[in-house]
Amino acid sequence: MKKTLTLISILFFYANYIMAQALYMPRNIKQAYLNNTRSLDGSPGKKYWQNHGNYKMDITVNAETKTVIGTESILYSNNSPDTLKTLVIRFVNNLHKPTAPRAGYVNEDFLSTGLNISAFSIDGETYIVDSKSWGTVADIKLKRPLLPRTKVTIKMDWDYPLSKESGREGQIDPNTFFVAYSYPRISVYDDYNGWDRIPHSSRGEFYNDFNDYTFSIKAPKNFVVWATGDLLNPDEVLQPEIAARLKKSYLNDEIIHIATEQEMKNGQVTLQKDWNVWKFTANHISDVCFALSNHYLWDASSVVVDQKTKRRTSTQAAYNATSKSFVASVKNNNYALSWFSNNWPGIPYPFSKMTAFHGYADMEYPMMVNDSDTDDPIFAQLVQDHEIAHTYFPFYMGINETRYAFMDEGWATTLEYLIGIAEKGKIAADKFYKKFRVEKYINDNSTEEDQPIISMSTQVSGTGYGNNSYGKASLSYLALKDLLGDDLFKKALHHYMNNWNGKHPMPWDFFNSMNTGAGQNLNWFFQNWFFTNHYIDLKINETGVKTASITPINILNVGGFAIPFDLTVTFTDGSKKTAHYTPAIWKTNPKSLIIPYKTLGKRIKSIEIDGGIFMDATPKDNIWTSK
Ligand SMILES: [Zn+2]
Repeated sequence: MKKTLTLISILFFYANYIMAQALYMPRNIKQAYLNNTRSLDGSPGKKYWQNHGNYKMDITVNAETKTVIGTESILYSNNSPDTLKTLVIRFVNNLHKPTAPRAGYVNEDFLSTGLNISAFSIDGETYIVDSKSWGTVADIKLKRPLLPRTKVTIKMDWDYPLSKESGREGQIDPNTFFVAYSYPRISVYDDYNGWDRIPHSSRGEFYNDFNDYTFSIKAPKNFVVWATGDLLNPDEVLQPEIAARLKKSYLNDEIIHIATEQEMKNGQVTLQKDWNVWKFTANHISDVCFALSNHYLWDASSVVVDQKTKRRTSTQAAYNATSKSFVASVKNNNYALSWFSNNWPGIPYPFSKMTAFHGYADMEYPMMVNDSDTDDPIFAQLVQDHEIAHTYFPFYMGINETRYAFMDEGWATTLEYLIGIAEKGKIAADKFYKKFRVEKYINDNSTEEDQPIISMSTQVSGTGYGNNSYGKASLSYLALKDLLGDDLFKKALHHYMNNWNGKHPMPWDFFNSMNTGAGQNLNWFFQNWFFTNHYIDLKINETGVKTASITPINILNVGGFAIPFDLTVTFTDGSKKTAHYTPAIWKTNPKSLIIPYKTLGKRIKSIEIDGGIFMDATPKDNIWTSK
C-alpha cells in the first residue's frame, strides 16, 4: 500500500528525525536509516529487504536409535543489494556437542555428537563440508558468489542424535521426542549487521528469517506426530475414526479426546504400517518443529480467533497420562487464543494451530509450546499463556531475540500479566507478577549486572539477562500503557505491529513506531527506561511551607525510572484520599516533584506513595507521618 505524503507527514518525519537523534544509536544502525532500509517514522524503509528460504524437508525419526535423519532442499533468495561470498549455516542443536560453549553446566546425558552432514550441494555443485568442526554456526565459502536479487538451491543430507536429557528439545522419555531446531538453516543476513554469526549459547534465543516450509516426518507405527503447520494427510496416517475426530475438532469449541491412553496402547490410532509419513506445511513462518510419541494422549478443539472472518484456529494438546495440568490445556488454549485476539494485543491470532506439548522446557515455538507439567493448575495456565503470547513476539513480529530479548520476553511477560488479570483478578495477578517478575529484580544485590535495557542480550550477564528481558522490559511497557492510557497505547502498539509483522524490527523501529502511532514525542520516556541505569525507588521528602489549604508534597525519584504511582493522604479525621499519577509527571521534573496538595482545611496525618507492581527498592521511605 502506498501512502500519500502530506505536508503533515513530511513535517512529522522531520520532527521525528530530530527526536530520533536524541536516542543513542550504534553506528551500524544509524547507517541502516541513512540507507533507507529503515525509516525514522518507524516504518520499514523504502529500500527495506529481507532474505527468504523455501524449505522442503523429508525427515525420519528412528525411535530405536533416537536419531533424526533428514534430506533438505532450500531455495534461498538473496534479496539484499549485496553479493554474498559466504553462506552462514545455523544448527542450534550443535549446542549438545561437548566442545560447544554454553551459558551453563550440563549433565553428560545432554551431550551428543551433534550434526553430521553426509551430502551438501549448491546449485548441483558438490561441496565437501566438515560438519565435525561445526559449532552452532558455520561458514560455507561459496564457489560462485551469490549476486544481489538472485536465488540458489542448497541441498543436504544430514543426521543427528536426540540427546537423552532434553533441554528445549530432545528425548522427553524413551518413546517421546520433542524435535526442535532439527534442521540446518541459513542464518539471517540483514541490513544492519550482515550475517548473524552470534553462536547459540543455551541462554539466549533466536533470530530467524520468515520462510516457507513443506516437510514430512516419517515415524514408526503407533507414533503420533504433532507439528508446526497444517497436517496435510490425516487419512494417510490415522485410522478413520481418529481422522474423523480430528476433522470434527476443527469445526467447533467442543473439546474432543482424539486419542485416549487405551486407544494408544491398543494400536487404534495410527494406520498399522511399519512407518507413517506425516506431511505438514506452513508459510511465511520463522521456524517449524515437531514432536512424536507412541503413548501420549491427544486432545483437540478449535476457537474463533478473528471475529470478522470467523476464522478458527485448531487447539491441541499432547501429554502423558500421568500429567495433572495438561487435562485443562486445550480449554485454556481456547481461552488464551480468544483473549489475546480480542483484548491484548487485540490482533487475531495469526496461525491456524496451537499445540501444547508435555515436555520440560516451558518454551515457545511457532504454533507449538513445550511446557512442563505441574501440580498447580493456575501456574500451568500462566506458563501456557506466556508461551502462547510469544506467538505475537517474536513469531508474528520477527524480533532479533538473540540481541534484544526484551523485544519479545518483555511483551510475553506483559501479556501474561494482562491475561492473568482477566483470569484471576487484579489482586492475584499483581501478587504473582510482583513475586515472579519484579521482586527478584528490585531486590537483586548484584546491581553491577543491572545494565540499561537497550544493552545487547548477549552482553548482559547473570541475573542482568533475565531482569532486562522480562521484568524491567515488561514494567516499561506497562508504564507506557499507564502514561498513554489504554486506547492510545493500543493504537500506537498496533501501529508498530502493523508496520513490522513478518519483518525484522529493531528497538529503534519500536521507539519510532510508537512515537508516530501515539502522535507524540515519547523519546524522553524511552531514554528514561531503555538507555539508563535507573531503577525503581521513590521517596517522600519533608514537605515545604504549607498554607491552610495547600500542603506541598515533595517526592524524590531516587531510582530514576518514570513510574506511575498512587498517592494516598490520610487526614487526622481518619478520612483518606488516593490519587493516581502517570509517568508523565516525571517528564519535566525527572528527579524531584512538588505536588501542591489541596488539603481543604484538613490536617494531614500521613502520606504514602505506592507504585503497585512497580516495586520500590526502599519501601520504608515511601511513607511520611506527621510528627
Ligand atoms: Zn518467554
